[in-house]
Amino acid sequence: MSIQLESINCGNCGAPLRIPETAQFVTCNHCKSSLAVKRMESITLTEKLTETTERLDETEKKLAELVYRNELNEETRRWERQRDSLMVTDKHGNKSKPSVLAGGFALIVTIIMAFMAVVMIGPFALLFPLLGIFALVMSIKKQQEYQTAHRRHKIRRQEITGRYIEARDNNTHSDYLKQLENAPTPEDFLRDLGDS
Ligand SMILES: [Zn+2]
Repeated sequence: MSIQLESINCGNCGAPLRIPETAQFVTCNHCKSSLAVKRMESITLTEKLTETTERLDETEKKLAELVYRNELNEETRRWERQRDSLMVTDKHGNKSKPSVLAGGFALIVTIIMAFMAVVMIGPFALLFPLLGIFALVMSIKKQQEYQTAHRRHKIRRQEITGRYIEARDNNTHSDYLKQLENAPTPEDFLRDLGDS
């Protein structure tokens, strides 16, 4: 298998460079610039590392922001669905956050009912408040469930934001940039071809 060489010019100093047709990166043997090889339909150009780096940093920032917005939107939608399922609906169809008020009210009503009923049906009626206690326990449970879910939602939002800020602020180079920084010179290419 023979590898075709092509002649290009350094994007920084203009020196002629002969590189394999498949090479993506090259280091100029005259000015030592790290170059990314851009092949277009009729022309091949090289771009200096610093320009590429700036553009990639910009791209990475935009990407991080995009991922951040997406994740946050998804988490918000997830929370809205969960919130809807945890809210309580009154008889007019209005939704509201669960509160222990309803349970407390039920307990008071059943205690009053119990005292009234004792007069009519005897001490057995004192068991009525058990229903009220049950209603109170249920409403406390519901409220706690809602609060726990809401807390988790806030934590998830913080995590997503934290990941975004880290991605935005860290300057570790992508694999692409590492390849670019360690690009061989035309001599390296030729030596590699001779070896194989
Ligand atoms: Zn050069």
